[in-house]
Amino acid sequence: MTLALDRTLVIAPHPDDESIATGGLLQRAVAAGGEVRVVFVTDGDNNPWPLRYLKKKLWISDADRAEWGALRREESRRGLAALGIPPSSAIFLGYPDTMLLRMVRAGDLRARDALAAIIEAFSPSMLVLPSAFDLHSDHRAISWLAHGAAKGRNVVTYVIHGHAPGGLVAFRLELSPEETARKRAAIECHQSQLILSRSRFLSYARSVEEFQQAEFDMALESRLHDWSCAVKHAVRVVTHSGSN
Ligand SMILES: [Zn+2]
Repeated sequence: MTLALDRTLVIAPHPDDESIATGGLLQRAVAAGGEVRVVFVTDGDNNPWPLRYLKKKLWISDADRAEWGALRREESRRGLAALGIPPSSAIFLGYPDTMLLRMVRAGDLRARDALAAIIEAFSPSMLVLPSAFDLHSDHRAISWLAHGAAKGRNVVTYVIHGHAPGGLVAFRLELSPEETARKRAAIECHQSQLILSRSRFLSYARSVEEFQQAEFDMALESRLHDWSCAVKHAVRVVTHSGSN
């Protein structure tokens, strides 16, 4: 199967998602001479237990969180370098970690608009999004926002926490031992995440990556919206005519 990897855009809710879910795919894109962008929607700075452990204190200040976020950005750049991707390919949006679902529920769609602008500017041949079936709420919220921003692009999705439902696989990548080793090296760049859960975290360095089909048909939703507006308009016209 030939994958459309000449312009690959990965959307990662947190630093480390790109290495875990797409460490092999990104290597394939680079090997094919493709261009890559990775968008980090949050800095993953709401990560209190490793931070408390490292700082040896219970109370985490805003400055501590900002420092942690900066560290995680740097780890992402190193992780991308381990996959052969220049740091200039990383785009950091800095939305609040663990708050995306709350923002969406409150009607705050700024992240969707920011993603739409990046997608429009880069024009990806493959757009790789977190899955709406992921157990992490940031992943689900960003999935919905990013599908809304995708506007008919070639979309695949990935699950990190939990499992995808059956029957939706778009493709699987079997990584070579060398690719798997580089993926593991990229994951190991996220040292902040290894502090308290080294074995669980490194277990993500699997030799198979699985991508699922797009999960929301936003084009269909928009057609349904147009259709329902047309019906409401027709009903208003008929009602108005009937009253004369
Ligand atoms: Zn994540």
